[in-house]
Amino acid sequence: MLIELESVTKIYNQGQVNEVVALDDISLEVDDNSMICLRGASGCGKSTLLSIIGCVFQPTSGRVAIGGKQLSRLPDRFLTLHRRRYIGFIFQNFNILTSLTVRENIVLPLIPLGISPTRMKERAEELMDQFSISHRRNFPAGQVSGGELQRVAIARALVSDPPLILADEPTAHLDSRLGLEFMHFMADLKAKGKTIIITSHDSMVTEHPAIDRVIDMKDGRIHVP
Ligand code: ADP
Ligand code: MG
Repeated sequence: MLIELESVTKIYNQGQVNEVVALDDISLEVDDNSMICLRGASGCGKSTLLSIIGCVFQPTSGRVAIGGKQLSRLPDRFLTLHRRRYIGFIFQNFNILTSLTVRENIVLPLIPLGISPTRMKERAEELMDQFSISHRRNFPAGQVSGGELQRVAIARALVSDPPLILADEPTAHLDSRLGLEFMHFMADLKAKGKTIIITSHDSMVTEHPAIDRVIDMKDGRIHVP
């Protein structure tokens, strides 16, 4: 899933007193089946860049192509479809719904795709098996351990088998053991052909051997030292 960004700019609240230039003329290529890290101080635009690559919203200007397909001119509903098919998100704090069960959390992204309940159940079982959380399938997610929760979040990101995984500061609230375990799972996914983009300033991520490239950002720009 080759990603190409050309002169991408994102301005929040354009023309208003609270206008923020979050991304300023970013051009970037991410190779298929690579794992890259976006690094930079809080507020430099990492999450905004991830959201644009993840088709959460359009840039104010510039072009974005994923897998050779130009996304910048797509109407919002196509952008949403593209996101659901091609992108798996892992959020900081994992954004797991604690009152739903482990299995319900994992299949959540499949609901808008109109997949049959039987197929959803099968897919959840495959992933729970892969991540050794099957024994927790009917537990409310609020009652499982931190390590299990992390695996639920990864399983949920993989449920539609997307080629591109985006993780926003995934290790920020993890101890070093779980942080390393997280990177181990990401390295494994890369070995299986996924493309992975992680935002982080954690050395556990930036110095991990499976990371192909660290891109430094500063004030909405890619910073070349
Ligand atoms: P990072 O993830 O590197 O901390 P962000 O992409 O979250 O950076 O934010 C970049 C800049 O854009 C910051 O100045 C932030 O305050 C601003 N920003 C982020 N989201 C919004 C929003 N929804 N509305 C207005 N400003 C925003
Ligand atoms: Mg952020």
